Amino acid sequence: MGRAFVYVILGGGVAAGYAALEFVRRGVSHGELCIISEESVAPYERPALSKGYLLPEAPARLPAFHTCVGTNDERLMPKWYKEHGIELVLGTRVKSTDVRRKVLITATGETISYKILIIATGARALKLEEFGVRGSDAENVCYLRNLADTNRLVDVMQNCSGGNAVVIGGGYIGMECAAALVTNRMKVTMVFPEAHCMGRLFTPKIAEYYENYYKSKGVKFIKGSVLTSFENDSEGKVKAVILKDGTCLPADMVVVGIGIRPNTGLFEDQLQLDKGGIKVNGRMQASNASVYAVGDVAAFPVKLFGNEIHRLEHVDSARKTAKHAVAAIMAPSTGDLDYLPFFYSRMFTLSWQFYGDSIGEVVHYGDFSGGNFGAYWIHKGVIVGAFLEGGSKDDYEAIAKAVRSKAIVNNIAEVERAGIEFALRV
Ligand code: FAD
Repeated sequence: MGRAFVYVILGGGVAAGYAALEFVRRGVSHGELCIISEESVAPYERPALSKGYLLPEAPARLPAFHTCVGTNDERLMPKWYKEHGIELVLGTRVKSTDVRRKVLITATGETISYKILIIATGARALKLEEFGVRGSDAENVCYLRNLADTNRLVDVMQNCSGGNAVVIGGGYIGMECAAALVTNRMKVTMVFPEAHCMGRLFTPKIAEYYENYYKSKGVKFIKGSVLTSFENDSEGKVKAVILKDGTCLPADMVVVGIGIRPNTGLFEDQLQLDKGGIKVNGRMQASNASVYAVGDVAAFPVKLFGNEIHRLEHVDSARKTAKHAVAAIMAPSTGDLDYLPFFYSRMFTLSWQFYGDSIGEVVHYGDFSGGNFGAYWIHKGVIVGAFLEGGSKDDYEAIAKAVRSKAIVNNIAEVERAGIEFALRV
């Protein structure tokens, strides 16, 4: 015996929260919708975990950042789900699924069946072990994907206050954590194999600005290198990090941010996959018509890029793909999502936004010493990507519009000279 619902959302992260709000707005009936989540709290804005949550003073804590505050929508507290007749099944891992029979089986053996399933299982942090390094289980080695990880990181940091922190990885988790650790008065060294931070997005010139800023805050960088092993004390705690060239870095704590892997495991032999995620169409519908996938786990066609399939690991994409899937489920006339890829980050007092794709020729502009600068990516004569640090709301809207409308570039030197004005004129 088990429970049956019309709609089941598997996963209780960002996408699940935004999907729930959309279901309610579109008139879901009491008892029709269930959300199953391994986490023990209602959906929340995950990006807060590496930002406000790590502040030394007045840190953000739940319930302040439950979804959907990130878009100034309603904040959905556990009470809200109850009031709208949504079953929130927390602290529950789904361990197997049968898409043909439309059932999920939880780790405790309960069967939950559905008419329509939305997969919103997100991703997990890659472990060092997957790169042949052992020692992730030491009590002062931290990852950062969920609330439990973040609470652990805060505890570890408070237990070695003022000590040495080694951050492995130069992506946004590494960068945001390094900033938070420094703000908490830790001595931070960042280690990553690339030539510069945010290697997948930043140009060397953009990266140089952020690295110099970090250095001015006391962060040390060891680039082009990787960790090969840990040195532990007699209690198993890490006391040093050993790098490929033999360098030994003393460490009171280690934070690892080396990428993520989408949680597709429950569906790998049942649904079509692409780009490491679950392949869906423009309505977020998977290869089985009763199944939709949204957020980090979904690989979907991006109209702006000629319907090329992309899997995006960004919060805005999680929010919008979730809303779109619910629209498609509740209103069959819903067309294909027309999504403009968007990514942002905040660290120290810095804040940047990026829209589109980072392909083609790059044009930098603005004041790289004063912290008000940007870049355009130009491909086949049009703007395909735009980055801006320290912009105003109008500036960010303008660069988004320049990418969305594929603003034509006749003269690259003129774009460089005009800088943000180029986008403001579009
Ligand atoms: P998630 O929010 O990860 O939710 C997935 C949910 O599924 C989790 O609750 C998980 O427990 C659950 N789940 C998985 N498998 C099972 C199972 N078998 N059974 C039950 N439940 C399951 N993006 C930005 O654009 N800007 C940022 O500044 C930014 N900062 C970030 C900072 C941090 C620390 C992290 C971790 C991510 C950040 N992101 C940022 C990325 C953004 O948070 C993700 O893109 C977003 O959370 C994806 O939403 P999702 O719902 O797809 O997955």
